[in-house]
Amino acid sequence: MKSVNYRSFIKRDYKLRESANKTFVKLLNRRQIVLATLSLLVGLTVVSALVSDDSEAAISEQALALPNTEISTRVVQQLKLPIHKQDPRISALAVKTKAAPAKQVAQKRIKVRKGDTLAAIFSRNKISARDVYDIIALGKVTKGLRNLRPGQHIRLSFAEQGKFTGLVHEITKFKSLQVNRSAKGYSAKQVVRKPNIRVAYVNGKIRDSLFLDAKKAGLEQSLIMELAGIFGWDIDFALDIRRGDSFHVVYEEQYLDGEKIRHGNILAAEFVNRGRSYRAVRYAAKDNRADYYTPAGKNMRKAFLRSPVDFRRISSRFGRRHHPVLNRTRLHKGVDYAAKRGTPVRATGDGKIIHRARKGGYGKTIIIRHGGKYSTLYAHLSSYDRKARGKVKQGQVIGYVGTTGRSTGPHLHYEFRLNGAHRNPLTVKLPSATSINKRYKKDFLNQTRGLIAQLDGLRRIEIALAP
Ligand SMILES: [Zn+2]
Repeated sequence: MKSVNYRSFIKRDYKLRESANKTFVKLLNRRQIVLATLSLLVGLTVVSALVSDDSEAAISEQALALPNTEISTRVVQQLKLPIHKQDPRISALAVKTKAAPAKQVAQKRIKVRKGDTLAAIFSRNKISARDVYDIIALGKVTKGLRNLRPGQHIRLSFAEQGKFTGLVHEITKFKSLQVNRSAKGYSAKQVVRKPNIRVAYVNGKIRDSLFLDAKKAGLEQSLIMELAGIFGWDIDFALDIRRGDSFHVVYEEQYLDGEKIRHGNILAAEFVNRGRSYRAVRYAAKDNRADYYTPAGKNMRKAFLRSPVDFRRISSRFGRRHHPVLNRTRLHKGVDYAAKRGTPVRATGDGKIIHRARKGGYGKTIIIRHGGKYSTLYAHLSSYDRKARGKVKQGQVIGYVGTTGRSTGPHLHYEFRLNGAHRNPLTVKLPSATSINKRYKKDFLNQTRGLIAQLDGLRRIEIALAP
């Protein structure tokens, strides 16, 4: 273990980067605009090509009794009441639904307060306790009205002379409960709105870090983390990425009434790291949860995480010439991650802690054995996690970055050994997790062909635009 003297280099890297960046940004701007415009065009074709299930078309439309409500179309899924056949009320209920509702003249939208109940809201709006009772008596379908959450909204409808005619309980943006009163009594149904899925596409080039550049490209933080999660088995996003690396992401966005509500899943993605392309597609075999696979059907997951530290916590970034990991080619047998004291350190694989004590120049050190062949070492820790004893899971926090032992500043020293011999943690070939089951291989290839063709198309455009 050599004492580490890369801090000065890190500082120098930062200066280089800053000044280099400014001109770089200017140079890139015009091209990026062209790229962005093209991406948009491509995105549109992607949308039309990929949206197989046009959710709106699949929805049976139904006019509602309340003309002024926001939910005017796209009523989905008439709620089935549970106890159907035995209960005489149910057949009556079906009739009730068909009965013409009272004409509504006024509507009031109420925000549920902390500690509010339907009874309290009704009382404040001069609706009788009898109505509360009748509505709750409809059973399971109105269960949500018994557990109102603060911040939710309820729309009350009234006819002439303030006669209460029904309500809409806005449960989520996608789900609401409608209670209507007719001459024959109350009826209730749940209305579920399906979001419109649009497929979006984002690409970008790395100039600073995955986090900053993906954000600039327009990816939300949660999507960036998903992207890093998909490729984190192959690429160390803290130390291994370079300026000029690029990424393409095809993902879903959910819309209601033309408004984006949230993003959905990443469907396909590509990351080009130092000229090498990594691709992933999302696939769920029947009854199984979705996962990401290479185009050949290998699971993206590996037995080891590439990096023991969350890439966002790393304070050193790549420079133009000086990589912060200076020591790895000399006597040094591992990788150093410069990060703030206290930054969590994760076990890179499932295993068993076989050493958890000071170890000479390494300072406070944890060594984990993973099966018979592999072991990993984490040094200079400031402290160990309390729960890090015996068996540990992949990704579990085992300790915290420090500067114990022979170390000039807070950093994690990480080693990876195969059959006792040191391997470069950044480049060692890691054992793969399970591949796709043979039974599903054909289905997998059929389902993912389109996505891979999209990635090919997007890549071609990028290459055509390259100077
Ligand atoms: Zn080191």
